[in-house]
Amino acid sequence: MADAIFSSLPTTIFEEMSGLARELGALNLGQGFPDDPGPEAIRAKAADAVLNGYNQYPPMVGLPELRQAVAAHYAGAQGLDLDWASEVTITSGATEALAATFLGLIEPGDEVVVFQPVYDAYLPLIRRAGGTPKLLRLSPPHWRFDRAMLEAAFSDRTRFVVLNNPINPAGVVLPPEDLALLAEFCVRHDVTAVCDEVWEQVVFGGAVHRPLMAFPGMRGRTVKIGSAGKMFGLTGWKVGFLMAAPELSRTLARAHQFLTFTTPPNLQTAVAFGLETGADWFTAMPRTLERSRDRLAESLRREGFVVLPGQGTYFLNLDLPASGVEEADRAFALRAVREAGVASIPVSALYEETPVTTILRLCFAKRDEVLDAAVGRLAKARELSRAD
Ligand code: PMP
Ligand code: GLN
Repeated sequence: MADAIFSSLPTTIFEEMSGLARELGALNLGQGFPDDPGPEAIRAKAADAVLNGYNQYPPMVGLPELRQAVAAHYAGAQGLDLDWASEVTITSGATEALAATFLGLIEPGDEVVVFQPVYDAYLPLIRRAGGTPKLLRLSPPHWRFDRAMLEAAFSDRTRFVVLNNPINPAGVVLPPEDLALLAEFCVRHDVTAVCDEVWEQVVFGGAVHRPLMAFPGMRGRTVKIGSAGKMFGLTGWKVGFLMAAPELSRTLARAHQFLTFTTPPNLQTAVAFGLETGADWFTAMPRTLERSRDRLAESLRREGFVVLPGQGTYFLNLDLPASGVEEADRAFALRAVREAGVASIPVSALYEETPVTTILRLCFAKRDEVLDAAVGRLAKARELSRAD
């Protein structure tokens, strides 16, 4: 029943876990945000823009300087040929970009292929727009899809597919052959791809992020979504990028104008500056995060925990049964935050059907001492779970 879509939802797992961490004074390896305050020059630019810049409504689709910087960034980083004037819209975070896309493009009855684990915002927004999600289930340790899975999910009624790559919570970067396969299905079924690529800059260990938009036949049928929050480790800023061919962009802007209309101009100015001057940050940031990921993984392994491979995002996944934890992920996550003082994300929260209940997501974008202390607390939670 349409009325119940939002009223029947629980509070999102990210807020639930951060709320418990705040209330209990626990270490928070749940919701994904870094301890690092973010690039100082970009924050200084924002402060200057608040004090000395323009603080009234900016243009609805975003400041030209930011739209130009976005197009130039993706030309350099991903070889895309976006026209800033007709193909780039600035939104209040990737979340608003997703909402504008779903509310702007989906018509009642459209089928939308969605991969599980699914980022929490997708399904309620797709349903509110009148879409019917067709769920496809990815599972650890590799979280990959194949031709048979796509054959089962796509039909003549499919109008959209939503792809999150690099994948949150899996932490994996999809290989080009998987993207080529998905592109083949999009073209064959005349489907528009909604690509949530907010983690595109947070990729390590030689992995390369490739935008689905660049695959054959996809340029005109892809909506690409990015987030300055993830690019610059400033998750509270909520400056998003919405990119698509001109006709799609016109519709997306129509939806955006009635969701938020616009995005704080001072933050837009600072993000434009960040994109123009950020080459060093884009090299250093993934290296720093990779070091944190390796530090957490090594100390977890020393404690006898088993971690899954990953090549991106802020997240490392624990295989609970292989780590000697018999409890399901949610029960263990609640125990860990309440009894041992460390918050995490149970990955089952990001499934709607047949959840994977064996994986715990940990955010490693934290100071060394936080990571070290968290491992001791997770070991304590495991002890307590064995004692019960
Ligand atoms: N999509 C994914 C996959 C995310 O992980 C996040 C935030 N972590 C978002 C969208 C939302 O991004 P924003 O904060 O820019 O709204
Ligand atoms: N995307 C963040 C995460 O995965 C959370 C964002 C949110 O809380 N809405 O942790």
